[in-house]
Amino acid sequence: MAETNGINGTSGTNGTNGANGFTPRGRLAGKNAIITGAAGGIGLETTILFLREGASVMMCDISEPALAKAVTKAKELSPHMTGRIATAKCDVSKEADVQAVVEQLDGWGGVDVMFNNAGIMHGDDADAIDTPEKIWDLTQNINVKGVWYGSKHAILSLRRHHKIIGSIINTASVVALVGSATPQLAYTASKGAVMAMTRELAIVHAREGFRFNALCPAPLNTPLLQDWLGDDAEKRHRREIHFPTGRFGEAIELAQAVLFLASDESSFVNGTDFVVDGGMTRAYVTPE
Ligand code: NAD
Repeated sequence: MAETNGINGTSGTNGTNGANGFTPRGRLAGKNAIITGAAGGIGLETTILFLREGASVMMCDISEPALAKAVTKAKELSPHMTGRIATAKCDVSKEADVQAVVEQLDGWGGVDVMFNNAGIMHGDDADAIDTPEKIWDLTQNINVKGVWYGSKHAILSLRRHHKIIGSIINTASVVALVGSATPQLAYTASKGAVMAMTRELAIVHAREGFRFNALCPAPLNTPLLQDWLGDDAEKRHRREIHFPTGRFGEAIELAQAVLFLASDESSFVNGTDFVVDGGMTRAYVTPE
């Protein structure tokens, strides 16, 4: 069956010949990419797409067991990959970890694409009154500092290897664009910071050929959100009604956007808040 909407049996993790039925075309041939949070929903789907499109991928994550599972899956689902694949345990909130991973790619010829994707939304994150300071700090350290360190060391690598083209993609969120009545204040603040930081990096480094774009996903079917929603149908419905499509997004639908931003096809796309949300942030009232 040729379903192609990304939700009915065509995701990149179920063994089709290319995510959403697309045949790989070598869109990242010869490029070296680092993906942080690579064991998670968006990170793993992006890893698989990147491999299929000819990139070499360094998968980083704070969780070694999750990384071990993810790399097995990535290899299984990318049987024709032509690039390399490697993994590294990395806590993006620690600069030394990020620097070490980026410098590992010196042996591959340096970084071409950096996907600063790792992020958390903590269960104790709440409103202005109830968010504990330690949750605030933890969230900013991973979601904001992690993106800063990743961007910083990607720039240094691009310069070290005298590259004139580079693409850095930083994962923000639609909560950086629209307010949510179900608060997660530390998370929202962190994603606003990612967006503002990305925009400035894009302007500062444009003449070096280094592009920076922020990815803004709406709520997705990944563990980050789905574990948090659990089987609370009301909590789930409270969010689903905001989608004109009536559904959450899938990680593969984000990975497709990341592929475009990583490839040279997006050579004049810089400093954007790249929204992938099924029309959610454009909707006033959604269909019944
Ligand atoms: P996920 O929880 O499935 O994956 C996140 C991954 O990051 C996990 O594998 C986790 O182990 C890793 N990680 C956590 N802390 C880390 C650290 N300090 N260093 C390195 N790795 C770390 O989440 P996802 O849905 O794939 O989310 C990826 C990104 O997308 C996050 O930045 C998230 O905020 C953002 N986002 C997600 C949604 C959504 O609904 N899922 C919506 C908007 C934005």
